[in-house]
Amino acid sequence: MIDYFIGAIIFIYGLIFGSFLNVLIYRIPRKNFFSSVSSYCPECKHKLAWYDLIPVFSYIFLRGRCRYCKEKISVRYPIVELSNAVLWVLSFVFFRNSISDIILSAVLFSLLIVIAGIDLDTQEIPNGLVIAVLVLGVIRFILSFFFGDMLWFEHLIGAACISIPFLIIALITGGGIGGGDIKLCFAVGLFLGWKLTLMGTFLGIILAGIIALVIMIKHKKSGTIPLAPSLCFGFATALLFGNMILELIF
Ligand SMILES: [Zn+2]
Repeated sequence: MIDYFIGAIIFIYGLIFGSFLNVLIYRIPRKNFFSSVSSYCPECKHKLAWYDLIPVFSYIFLRGRCRYCKEKISVRYPIVELSNAVLWVLSFVFFRNSISDIILSAVLFSLLIVIAGIDLDTQEIPNGLVIAVLVLGVIRFILSFFFGDMLWFEHLIGAACISIPFLIIALITGGGIGGGDIKLCFAVGLFLGWKLTLMGTFLGIILAGIIALVIMIKHKKSGTIPLAPSLCFGFATALLFGNMILELIF
């Protein structure tokens, strides 16, 4: 019973923090992160009241449109809020044996959401976010070294196992894979260890391929698709279900 209660609290905090992630996704590329301007509609610039900013519910209540100019609000806002809340609850459910794992995974999920959102908008991953992921990876590596959920060098192999092949591909193709993707794979790899990194990258590339195929069929043209959001999805899936999948297979 108490678990449901804690789960519900985490869900609510996940929603609230998720709406902060939306602010980050919007503001970090515009470099006005530290301006104290309160939230406003990106279309009509009207200041938003607190009741316009209740995660998910405001979107449903306003039927996805701005209260003031009736312009459509991107469905990404509630999706970001919900994903963050769900991923936080799943961190609590899956990693309940270790409070550090719960916190580290929850923070990693939030960072992956912001990275995916910004990469979708700008095709770039800000270095600051990669460094934040790297810090998480180093913490997890140190914890692993002393308390060992896996052998410590598995984290080091994780950092290298995708980032180095990606780097070689980038050097050969002259930019087929972005520098941000390579750095992200290094940082996330250190966190996940090599098994989950390989699995996450595999899932991410499959997803990116499916998206590329759908775009090609729908618009009858091929375009570049941002790899990072698919990779973020793959890494998150691998972190949650990777060990289960590995146990099923082996
Ligand atoms: Zn508006």
